[in-house]
Amino acid sequence: MSVGLETTLQGILGDRTQKALTTAFGYATVGDLLQHYPRRYASRGELTSVAGVPLGEQVTLVAEVVSTKERPMRQKRGSILEVVISDGTGLVTLTFFNQAWRQKDLTPGARGMFAGKVGAYRGERQLAHPDYELFSDEDALAQNSEEWAKRPIPLYPATSRLASWQIAKSMGVVLDVLGELGDPIPEDIRATEQLLGFSEALQKIHRPAEQSDWKAARDTLRFHEALVLQTALVRRRRLAQSVASTPRVPGEKTNTFLKGLPFTLTEDQLTVVEEIHDDMASGHPMNRLVQGEVGSGKTVVAATAMVTVAGTGGQTALLAPTEVLATQHFRSLIQTLGPDMAASLNPVLLTGALGAPQRKKALLAAASGASQLVVGTHALLGDTVQFADLGLVVIDEQHRFGVDQRDALRHKGSHPHVLVLTATPIPRTVAMTVFGDLDVSTIAVLPQGRSPIESHVVALADHPTWYSRVWSRVAEEVAAGRQAFVVASAISPSVQEEGEPELSDVEEGDPEGMPSVPRATVEETLPMLRGLPEFAGLRVEAIHGRMPATEKDEVMQAFGAGEIDVLVATTVIEVGIDVPNASIMVILDADRFGVSQLHQLRGRVGRGQHPGACLLVTHAEVDTTARARVEAVASTLDGFELAAIDLELRREGDVLGASQSGRRSGLRLVRVTSDGELIDRAREHAEVILTSDPDLSGHPELLATLQARLDESSEDYLEKN
Ligand code: ADP
Ligand code: MG
Repeated sequence: MSVGLETTLQGILGDRTQKALTTAFGYATVGDLLQHYPRRYASRGELTSVAGVPLGEQVTLVAEVVSTKERPMRQKRGSILEVVISDGTGLVTLTFFNQAWRQKDLTPGARGMFAGKVGAYRGERQLAHPDYELFSDEDALAQNSEEWAKRPIPLYPATSRLASWQIAKSMGVVLDVLGELGDPIPEDIRATEQLLGFSEALQKIHRPAEQSDWKAARDTLRFHEALVLQTALVRRRRLAQSVASTPRVPGEKTNTFLKGLPFTLTEDQLTVVEEIHDDMASGHPMNRLVQGEVGSGKTVVAATAMVTVAGTGGQTALLAPTEVLATQHFRSLIQTLGPDMAASLNPVLLTGALGAPQRKKALLAAASGASQLVVGTHALLGDTVQFADLGLVVIDEQHRFGVDQRDALRHKGSHPHVLVLTATPIPRTVAMTVFGDLDVSTIAVLPQGRSPIESHVVALADHPTWYSRVWSRVAEEVAAGRQAFVVASAISPSVQEEGEPELSDVEEGDPEGMPSVPRATVEETLPMLRGLPEFAGLRVEAIHGRMPATEKDEVMQAFGAGEIDVLVATTVIEVGIDVPNASIMVILDADRFGVSQLHQLRGRVGRGQHPGACLLVTHAEVDTTARARVEAVASTLDGFELAAIDLELRREGDVLGASQSGRRSGLRLVRVTSDGELIDRAREHAEVILTSDPDLSGHPELLATLQARLDESSEDYLEKN
């Protein structure tokens, strides 16, 4: 049997191991497993240190047994075996219940790998649920022992069920039977970039004989990732631009609209409008991303494009991530368009929440062309939705949608123009990786007249009493006639908000010092606030994603109308909600949110003439990543700076969750924070390859790799939705 990357693990590995790998990581094929790269390497000669690893983290250490002690349990029958190991900088205790027999393996001086969760007991470091594998003398004797001692030990991201060394064993089994693989990197590039062959790189990253092996292997595989991704993106972009698309040129209608605006567009807005108009006039489909802070005036820019398209007889579909947002967009667009233009475009709203008759009406308006602006959620992607002449697709808050959703809408017209709006500023390298098939426009300068937002960290770990002051502060604000948001990270103890990624415990290094106190929830916070003496007489309500759409809408309307003083909410209010009288936001368990998410949330206040305040409440301890994220948000209002910080603080393996969804990107070795130069180089190579060989027929291996990657990403996408 010839084993390749597509071969399933079943039959190659033992049933139990194979199932464990599937459960823990979702791996099914040889290729999946081989991409599980070591997170670092240890050596038998050196001990790894547990110092600095936060409590609660799963670690794998190379350590040496110092002493063992057996003692009877105090309350119950049985015994405890305490094993003290040295990790190089200090001592760590392992505790086993009723396993005194282990004493004969764990003799002082024995070395091996030890894995478990880092804990503390009476001030001493412990490994909870420890697991170990000792280095055996036979291994050493079987080989040249000097070479053996030098050989780096790969330490893999592991789980409590599947230890690093078990993964290493599986890797060995697979590598032993793996056939010679085709190399997706063209030979000339391999030579210029001084890369290893593909098969050799896989061998050396998992089974290095010395340090230089895994370093060279990692460089090679990192380049692979970058090149494959850039080739995919450049190809996508060229394909998208090669087709014809109805030109949409601004005319009378566009002028009327721009003249009728109650303000003049900022320079940035004008530039972006011009870029959009150039794109849409080109005869090829526009694929443009417009990024700009919350309140930078993206909506009016998009509205201009919609009016231009309507001027040529075409329709626009606007896709929003949630019902609340779609509804909000619908209203704010009507307002932005003004009564005459709105009457002319005849906008309709199409969401999953519509009743059958209303839905039928909306569908008809879209299909007949009676409406030139259809606003909706993913309900717009359904097969029954048709357009008479779809000229423009506007997608709000790109990070919630995948490439495939963009495509689904695109196919409803004959290559409509596509405009993506995002309020999350995107560093250049991320734009090149995640949105590499789009042109990017930026609205950097905000329109005048926005009030600044003051942000404070309320660190309960340091100042527990500040909690009650938070609520007094909110009560003061309401007494002054303003309104408040209180944001919680979950709906109830058992129900998460839709689309919120659960922090998993799969990877070592994951919990990043998250505090272990129970999180605040909407359902518990609501009655708590209603019961506060300082809130007596205040109107406190709640909103979250699990409420029926009509109810959500009623609550938002009432809040907008000032009939609610304090709104307890989940992240459903994250984007687009515009209530100028809301001046203060309290974010509970702020450490549970990402940097960019906090920044988005805070953008909901300070939208009127009153300065905004944001109180970031956290239990996270000083010097944890969790706390650092919250502090970062309080330290600056610059979205680009925050986006960069966000990237740096992000958990490994989750880098391109930078697109905010927390979804895996398929990038394992490329770091968008530090690999900008590599990404640039890979992009240049990709351009050259595709210029000489547009359909990649001369690069079958590269094409096959692209195809495999595409399948995988659409699978991810399907899983998520
Ligand atoms: P975004 O969609 O980027 O968050 P909006 O388009 O909703 O921002 O704009 C925020 C507010 O600023 C709206 O009330 C809008 O009418 C107003 N606005 C937009 N552009 C300008 C401008 N050039 N001058 C003054 N106000 C503006
Ligand atoms: Mg907007």
